[in-house]
Amino acid sequence: MPNIDKAQLIPLFHFPRSRILQSMEVTHCPHAVFFNHSDEECITCHQGEECLWINHNDEMVALEMKSVEELKQQLLIAVDFIDSNLSPHHMSRRKCQCENCRWLRQVQSTLDGKA
Ligand SMILES: [Zn+2]
Repeated sequence: MPNIDKAQLIPLFHFPRSRILQSMEVTHCPHAVFFNHSDEECITCHQGEECLWINHNDEMVALEMKSVEELKQQLLIAVDFIDSNLSPHHMSRRKCQCENCRWLRQVQSTLDGKA
């Protein structure tokens, strides 16, 4: 197991945070993207997954209080999100220099302990 420092993981949250917020239809959310577990509207919302992530990893949340395992898990959710939002021309992503692909590679190498 590579020894990963929280200080390496936390900066990686900036990019998906802004991407996910951008992709969400914040203006349509009656709760200003504050997930409410007891609200029917939140539970059935098509943006529920992204919203939950934001609520777990918001800048207000003290990421440094989380365990490395927890941070890794949340990052992997973000990887899925960024990955599934790539357009098809990213297929050759090893060579792609767009910010999505650069971030994905950065996460990968950090999680592999090669950063
Ligand atoms: Zn790309």
